[in-house]
Parts: sequence; C-alpha cells; structure tokens
Amino acid sequence: MIQLINATKIYNKSGKDLIALNDVTCEFERGSYISVVGRSGSGKSTLLNLIGGLDSVSSGQIIFDGNRLDKMTKNQLEIYRRFSVGMIFQSFNLVSHRSAIDNVILPMIFADVSLNERKNRAAALLEKVGLKERMNHISAEMSGGEAQRVAIARAMANNPSVILADEPTGNLDSKTAEEIMDLLIDLNINYGITVIMITHEADIAFRVSDKIFTLLDGKIINTQYTNNKRGTDEII
Ligand code: ADP
Ligand code: MG
Repeated sequence: MIQLINATKIYNKSGKDLIALNDVTCEFERGSYISVVGRSGSGKSTLLNLIGGLDSVSSGQIIFDGNRLDKMTKNQLEIYRRFSVGMIFQSFNLVSHRSAIDNVILPMIFADVSLNERKNRAAALLEKVGLKERMNHISAEMSGGEAQRVAIARAMANNPSVILADEPTGNLDSKTAEEIMDLLIDLNINYGITVIMITHEADIAFRVSDKIFTLLDGKIINTQYTNNKRGTDEII
C-alpha cells in the first residue's frame, strides 16, 4: 500500500548537502506491522516524516494506495495527512494545557466532524485506550504512559489506515512500554491498522513485527521477515 521508489532526501545544513535518505526503494504492505531500526542519525525519522507527508522527497517517489505523495499539491497533502495517516511521537506532542478529550477532538475539528460526534468519538477512543476515567484531566498532569495513550487516541481520531510511530516507547519505563506496545499490536491485529514503527529496541521490533528494515547512513542495509505469528499461542 505504501511504496518508496528511489526516494532521496537531501537537507542543506549551513551550505552543505546532507543525504538523510539515499535512494531508498521499499514497500509497506497493508495490514502489516513494520519496524524501522538503526542507529541515531541513520534516517529513520526522515523516512517516517516523508511517509507522513510532513516532509517531501528531494527526488524519487512515494506512493500511497496508488497516489503519488510527491506529486500532491499542498491541499491534497493536507487532506492526506488529516485522513490517511495518524502519527505518534516519543515526546507525545500533546497540547499540554488542554484535557485529554480536547486533544483527541482537535484533529476532528479540522475535519468538519459535528460537535456531538467529535465528543462521542473522542470519548470512545479514550475508553478504548484505557483512559475512560481520566479523559478530563489536562495532559500536563498525566504520566508518560497516559500521555502516549492520549496520543494514540488522537492519531486514530479521523480513522486513518496507517499509524506512524516514531520511537513511541522511547520515554517510557519497560512496563509502560509493554502496555503501549500491546495497544499498537491490538490496533494492527484486531482493527487492521498498518503500523510503521521506529524503535531502538531490536527485541521489541522482532517480537511484534512482520518485517524489519535496518537503516544505516540513509540506506536500507537489511530487510528481515519475521515469522512470529503473533496470536498463535491463543489458537493452539
Ligand atoms: P534518525 O531518526 O535515524 O535518528 P534522522 O532521520 O532524524 O535520523 O536524521 C538523518 C540525518 O538527517 C541526520 O544526519 C540529521 O542530522 C539530518 N537531518 C534530519 N532532519 C534535518 C533537518 N530538518 N535539517 C537538516 N538536517 C536534518
Ligand atoms: Mg529519529
């Protein structure tokens, strides 16, 4: 469903060209859970931001369900960002002085959803991520795990088919990280959401993913397919 073809991203840093992504060709299949690993500075966030439409390629193509992001107008790209992808970040990026429910409602305001529906849907999403009792608390007063749950609910607000997660557990202790991973796995397995996740933790990537890309110096140096058949332990 998402394809990069010879995608290159060059940043100009104080007059010097820096190749953040170097001629990358790869595919992200619908409904799959794909992780991107690699050392700091290898181009992981650049890759995710290109897929999320937050940044544009210097050359090459990015194709989402047959549509070329690299050919979209500003308006088309805005609509794509609003409806097709949901993003979550290591630092949560919530509006800190607003309540959890306000944060989840926000993307729906820009999507012209009616007031009633916005509230109902935000409440349902917050309940789903386990924050039914906390939805009127301001996000600044929430723990990291709670804040990331709000961010996941917000990412789901406009029913995206893909969640893009940039080190979503990077600021969390290991127990909380597990809970957040369980939520992402649930979205993937039970709701068919495609998840593309950057992580530093190879063991997590291996456990949850169908496919793992390793980046180094802006290139994919390894593609691993796992065969961990998540959920089989329940079937047996
Ligand atoms: P990672 O997420 O793997 O740590 P990034 O994609 O953030 O790596 O960065 C890849 C390279 O591109 C790094 O050398 C980084 O300094 C550079 N880079 C990223 N974003 C920008 C930017 N907005 N302007 C200039 N250089 C950037
Ligand atoms: Mg990064």
